[in-house]
Amino acid sequence: MDKKDYYEVLGVSKNASQDEIKSAFRKLAKKYHPDVSKEADAEAKFKEIQEAYSVLSDETKRQQYDQFGHAAFQGGGAGGAGGFGGFDFSGFDYGDIFDNIFGSFGGGFSSGRSSSRARRGSDTLMQMKLSFEEAVFGCKKTIRVDVVEECSECDGKGGFGETTCDKCHGSGTITSEQHTIFGSFLSKTTCTKCGGAGKTYDRTCSHCHGKGSVKNNKEIEVKVPAGVDTGTRLKLSGKGSAGANGGPNGDLYIEFNVAEHEFFVRDENDIYIEAPITITEAVLGCKKEIPTLYGNVTLTIPAGSESGDKHRIKGKGINNEATRRKGDMYIVLKIVTPKKLTKEQKRLLEELNETNLADDNDIKNFTRFVREND
Ligand SMILES: [Zn+2]
Ligand SMILES: [Zn+2]
Repeated sequence: MDKKDYYEVLGVSKNASQDEIKSAFRKLAKKYHPDVSKEADAEAKFKEIQEAYSVLSDETKRQQYDQFGHAAFQGGGAGGAGGFGGFDFSGFDYGDIFDNIFGSFGGGFSSGRSSSRARRGSDTLMQMKLSFEEAVFGCKKTIRVDVVEECSECDGKGGFGETTCDKCHGSGTITSEQHTIFGSFLSKTTCTKCGGAGKTYDRTCSHCHGKGSVKNNKEIEVKVPAGVDTGTRLKLSGKGSAGANGGPNGDLYIEFNVAEHEFFVRDENDIYIEAPITITEAVLGCKKEIPTLYGNVTLTIPAGSESGDKHRIKGKGINNEATRRKGDMYIVLKIVTPKKLTKEQKRLLEELNETNLADDNDIKNFTRFVREND
């Protein structure tokens, strides 16, 4: 597989400024981020964009790329493998790019470095089933999620019987003097005994195993806004996986799966219903009670209606809370041909058939074509 040109991937010119590159990346990243994008190949596309940006946003790498093309970054970890598998993203910080798009950015695209640096927890995705009505009108739902909380046994300290660390005397750091040929230097390192806390404990808390925090499975109430549909995602900030080393939690996304209704059919914010009427109602016209989301309404069906005729009631569709749009209600007529007739009904219809019902332009044109075609 030939790799695409990095400038092409971001849709910028060869002499684009750093600002142009950054803004092109932001736009594309927003569009293809796998947590939010509905595009089929979002993840692959997102990686491609990330890779292009990581090179073009770094002036040294960009120069290498301009001079040697993709060959500049092959070998090493890549080992000639196809795709982007071997590309090394470590040491590349997306933080400032994503802060404004997704809140702070964490899991899912870990750089492969494991350090004691505070890391944000990864985002998680949860499916939720809703009835048709719950989705249309909105609802409150209770879900269970794991939340990380301060340990109640030790008040977040991780142990009991606090004493000042005897190795660093409470400072958390060890200062040592180093003698070199250039002179003496003072160097500071984190205290190995207390891990920089400056305190030690007689007894480690058994409830949190010294971590100071525990994972609790808790019930939380989710407010589902009116108008969500299958595939809609709701973001609950900070309810994703726990962060590491004091980093913030990731976000929880809830994706809805909405059940179908027996009669109402939904098209975005519009609601359709099929209304069956008899042949005489269609021919003579009538008034009909029609169910809508907001109770029944009386619809006047004019004489001479046909199957498939559509009537609109403005504003009686879904009142979408997220988009602030209001849909309409559509009633589609369906003429039902009677299958069982009494003797009397049959006689009346035969009598009707003797009258000149065929005096209609559609029927006359068709009859003419039948003759011509013979
Ligand atoms: Zn210490
Ligand atoms: Zn504890």
